[in-house]
Order: sequence, then C-alpha cells, then structure tokens
Amino acid sequence: MTRRQAIEAGAATAAAVAASGALAQGARPIAEGQPMPDGVTLPASPPPAPHPGSVGFAIIGLGDYALKQIMPRFVQSGRCHIAALVSGNPEKLARVGDAYGVPPEARYSYDNFAAIAANSAVEAVYIILPTGLHADWAERAFAAGKHVMCEKPMALSASECERMIAASERADRKLMIGYRCHFEPYNRAAMELTATKALGDLRLIRTEHSYRLGPATPATNWRIARAQTGGGPLEDYGIYGLQAALYLSGEMPEQLSASAFRPEGDPRFAEVFAHVAVQMHFPSGTVAQIVTSYDSAGINMVEARGTTGALRMHPATGYGGNTLVLETGRERRAMEPGDPEVQFAAMLDHLAAAIREGTPILTPGEMGLRDVRLMEAIYASAASGRSVVLKPDGTMRG
Ligand code: NDP
Repeated sequence: MTRRQAIEAGAATAAAVAASGALAQGARPIAEGQPMPDGVTLPASPPPAPHPGSVGFAIIGLGDYALKQIMPRFVQSGRCHIAALVSGNPEKLARVGDAYGVPPEARYSYDNFAAIAANSAVEAVYIILPTGLHADWAERAFAAGKHVMCEKPMALSASECERMIAASERADRKLMIGYRCHFEPYNRAAMELTATKALGDLRLIRTEHSYRLGPATPATNWRIARAQTGGGPLEDYGIYGLQAALYLSGEMPEQLSASAFRPEGDPRFAEVFAHVAVQMHFPSGTVAQIVTSYDSAGINMVEARGTTGALRMHPATGYGGNTLVLETGRERRAMEPGDPEVQFAAMLDHLAAAIREGTPILTPGEMGLRDVRLMEAIYASAASGRSVVLKPDGTMRG
C-alpha cells in the first residue's frame, strides 16, 4: 500500500490491504528526475486562463503528491494558477507542461532554476520535494524573489527551519507550510468543538497514523533514507497526529516521553524507525498519545475525549472521505461539515490572500519549526529513555 492510498483510505481498507499483497513501493533509485508515478491522470485539456490578480506558482518536483493531489486542485482555486514547472526529468516535464498549458520557456530543470527570477509570471513556488531538499530549495526560491509554500515536514532539523525563516525575512517574501488539515472542514469542525468545550474539559487525545511499507531499501525509497527523511514514519505520517494533538488542545506540551523501535535485519529499517510512540502532557492536564508506524496495517485515526464527551475521526486527515463523530451523553452524531477535498484550493488561496492582502498565515514557517523542534525532543526522549521537559517554543529545557 502506498502512503497516498493509506491517507485516502484510512483504516477502512486495512484488512483488504493486508490481504492484497499489494504492498510494494516499487524499486527506483533515489535521484533527481524520477519517472512519471503510476496512476497519474493528466488533464485532457489545459486549464482556463487565470483570473485577474491570480498568483502564478512554480511547482518544484513532479512526484506523486504534486501530480496526483496538488496540481489537479489548482483549477478549484480562484486565486492561484500553475505558471511554471521544475523537474529533473525532461520527458516528464514536457508531457506535464503540455497537459497543464505551461509554456516551454516556463519549464525549468534543477540546474537552470535561478533563471526563474526573471520570470515575473511566477510569484510563488510550491516545494514538493523529498524533505532533505526543502531547506536548500526554499533558500533558492527566496533568492529568486519568490514566495514559498513548502510541503511538510518543513525540514530535517530546527536549524534548517531557522535558515528558511531567516531567508524568507531577508527576501521579504512569505513562507507557508502545506499543512492542509488546517483548511479541511472536518478538522476545522473538530478544532471548533474542542475550542468551544463541546466535549467539556479536554483530557485525552489519541492519534494513530500507520501503514505498511512494501519491500524497499534506503537506496530505492527516499522515505526510508535518513538523509532525505529524518527518522521515518513520525516525520512522514505521524506528523498529522502531532499536529492534531496541538490544534485540538490549543496548547504546547510541557513534557513528553517517547519510544522508537527499529527491528534488526529488515532492509526497510536499516536507517529509520519502524514505530514511534509519544506521550505528551499539556499544561491544562490534557494528555496526548501519538502512535505512528511504517510496519502495521493502515490506520488514520484521531480521537479526543473530554469530561463530558468525545470526538472520533476515522479517517481523520485524509485527502477526502474523512469522518467526524461527536458523542455527548447518550447522543452520537455523525457530522458532515463540508467536502474535505476543498482543503487543497483553500490552502492555496490562503497563501494568495497573504501575498495580495497581507493577511496572517495560519500555518507559517514558525509552525513548521515548532513541530520539528518537538520531533527533535521526541527522538531525544526515545534515545535517552527519559521524559523531556519543554519550553513553550518546543525546545528542550536543560
Ligand atoms: P515523490 O518521491 O513521489 O516525489 C518527489 C519528487 O521530487 C520526485 O518525483 C522528483 O521530481 C523530485 N526529486 C528531486 N530530487 C529528488 C531526489 N533526490 N530523490 C527523489 N526525488 C527527487 O514524493 P512525494 O510526492 O510523495 O512527496 C514529496 C513531498 O510532499 C514530501 O515533502 C512529502 O512529505 C510531501 N507530501 C505531503 C503530503 C500531504 O498530504 N501534505 C502527502 C504526500 C507527500 P522530478 O522527477 O520532477 O525531478
């Protein structure tokens, strides 16, 4: 099962996937210029001309998430359009460029990217590259005078995140992290429920984001190569649970403890962990338990339990198909706050508003940095076997 399928399907398909044997990620060398991912549908005709005032984006990295999720959603945005592409695979670049109506002069390789500075049709870039490349490419984009949307996780370390924020400030350009769940109706409704104490006082948050990675090695899949991915499932998938714990509690943890496990002799886990489990304590007394795995049947789940009620989302953070059940007393209500798929265009339009009207960014670089600091604390706790006390900005005390 691919990660995309896991997100789309959540736990509902866990049994079917386990039985299907369709777990292979496919062997491909890690390098710039990847082949066209399987299952991509390119538009039959180029998109209509952009609205006046629309922000032109360059997409950097034509991989799975860019081609299957982000690029097709630009037509739903009233304020953004695709103006340029950046890829290391010239054939793919030409095919995708033709399909999306991107003129040949607005198709860049990684080598001639700096020329994008002279392309005034491009105001922003969307970095959809392996995590280990985010910091360098954000710096290059800011040096070219562009605003940046950067995929999660923001970068491999807090110091890389700080470099990105500093580059954004120097260039006086916006930096937003593609935390799409902040723009997704079910997650927004859940935030509203906890913030308005619809569950009473929040006591417990439980999240689980897992899927089973097929046969692969660090040489064939960047998601398990430490230099490109960090520690593994936490950065890639567990980050949704970490984010949910923070946006549902509305607090920063003051203490956390964690464990991380890596089975010996499994080439998938030569460099990264297979499982990470975290317990976080918040100043209000709320506790969050966050579990993530690359080696168990797919699940995408968030639960929050207060003194008078509970909410359950299962799947919780998918591209579509999310659910939200509210239980209070004897009442059990399935809520339908809107189409989850609006999250992509809403996220793009949010950055356009920040660029055009100067509105604050809900998911700025500082949020990406905060989360990377917490992940550093999680690994520090797992390595020492002790709990870690945190400052309000997520850095470790002592
Ligand atoms: P893929 O491996 O499918 O695509 C990454 C693309 O990056 C490649 O196709 C390639 O594009 C380019 N690339 C450049 N250098 C390298 C390199 N050294 N190794 C591999 N690829 C390289 O990854 P995804 O699209 O799944 O993930 C990309 C980013 O998006 C990650 O940060 C990931 O965390 C994030 N993501 C976010 C999701 C969300 O829901 N918010 C969901 C999935 C991913 P080209 O061939 O054009 O050069």
